[in-house]
Amino acid sequence: MTRPAALARITAEERDWHSACDTPGPSNVGISEESMNVGISEESMFNPSLSPEHKALRELARQFARNEIAPIAAKADRIEEYPWELVKKAHAVGLINITVPGKYGGGGLGYFEDCLVAEELSAACAGVYSSFVASTLALTPLNIAATPNQMERLMKPFCAEPALASFCLTEPSAGSDVASVRTRAKRNGDTYVLNGTKRFITNGGVAKMYTVTATVDPELRHKGLVLLVVPSDSPGVSVGKKEEKMGQRAADTREVIFEDVQVPVENRLGEEGEGFGLVMETLDRIRAEVAAAAVGVGRAAMQAAVQYSKEREQFSEPISSFQAIQFKLADMAIKVEAARLLVRQAAWLADHGLRNSYESAIAKCFAADSAMQITTDAVQVFGGYGYIRDYPVEKYMRDAKLLQIYEGTSEIQRLVISRWLLKS
Ligand SMILES: Cc1cc2nc3c(=O)[nH]c(=O)nc-3n(C[C@H](O)[C@H](O)[C@H](O)COP(=O)(O)OP(=O)(O)OC[C@H]3O[C@@H](n4cnc5c(N)ncnc54)[C@H](O)[C@@H]3O)c2cc1C
Repeated sequence: MTRPAALARITAEERDWHSACDTPGPSNVGISEESMNVGISEESMFNPSLSPEHKALRELARQFARNEIAPIAAKADRIEEYPWELVKKAHAVGLINITVPGKYGGGGLGYFEDCLVAEELSAACAGVYSSFVASTLALTPLNIAATPNQMERLMKPFCAEPALASFCLTEPSAGSDVASVRTRAKRNGDTYVLNGTKRFITNGGVAKMYTVTATVDPELRHKGLVLLVVPSDSPGVSVGKKEEKMGQRAADTREVIFEDVQVPVENRLGEEGEGFGLVMETLDRIRAEVAAAAVGVGRAAMQAAVQYSKEREQFSEPISSFQAIQFKLADMAIKVEAARLLVRQAAWLADHGLRNSYESAIAKCFAADSAMQITTDAVQVFGGYGYIRDYPVEKYMRDAKLLQIYEGTSEIQRLVISRWLLKS
């Protein structure tokens, strides 16, 4: 199997670290050598403004969010059932598989465009959008490392019909510490025999395909990891009970269990030992999308708070006339606007084939922490009404919490950022 060129961007030496937080390396726009200023260097040509095509895509997503997701969001949250019809509708209008090249049945667009969609869909329901982004997360290692043959065989049929994929990384004892994965891939001629249990897998029970991180030898830690593409109907694959969650309850989250599953070696992405670098590069790209989802949730909470503050009267005037409320709203706007720019920067870098570990960690951390703060403050603006389910803000608050946890916790993002600062 030929080594995909994209993998060469993360060298073996850079991969010689221990966990999900270890993504050092030269930034392209982050810290300039002279000034240590964090931001966008002059040569980056980064442009956060939107073209007419971007605006059309955003409008399509906004209409989809308003007409298809928003009306069923509260019910999907209450009954904790994934609204599968939405996958069919999103597939029909081209709002899933956006980053897959057009010749394999995807949208042929970039992460910048996917982030525009992420913000809109998450503003309507982060649980529904989580299923979409989890699928993009599972497809991204193929985008990075699959050979043309693998794209034809695995990606093309997947994209041809409405379907979701899952990224199977986390295990009962391997969370933030990716290198401690225990799911075993034992080589037997032309196949791997896969055994292990994955925990908290989004789309676990509804996915057509899994991208599984396994190890050929746990003693090798990060150097032993491989990524395997496993159809969900393979003999030996089963799923556990659906997790009952605090928020994002529409999404299907489960254990996925592999018992003597035969996976052809030709379903391996990259070479043995390249799995860790591939996982890190995948997370770098997708963190911008999770950050965009956080912008969507924060924006929705802010809009609800603005509206409510103008309608609710106390002491014979709208509560929006009180400076304590006004400043909360202003702080919400500051966080939404700043997070959106960070998202666009991180996504732009990914689309231009540039390393964005540092920038995507900043975007994800800031946007997720901001969403948590904004939604908590929105509940406060609503007073007692914010705490009950008749109003949407308590859902936003529950949904926001997960954004600080999955795809690397906020602590892990801070580790990435600080290691970067201390290394440069
Ligand atoms: C609803 C949901 C959906 C998910 N979907 C997926 C999915 O689709 N695929 C998938 O693979 N995983 C998924 N996950 C798993 C998620 O990515 C992990 O939960 C997350 O990475 C944290 O791992 P952990 O839960 O084992 O926490 P731990 O790693 O045990 O962390 C516990 C606490 O310790 C902190 N901590 C850990 N290490 C350090 C350190 N070195 N320095 C400072 N603090 C540290 C963490 O920040 C956290 O606060 C999902 C999780 C949830 C809850």
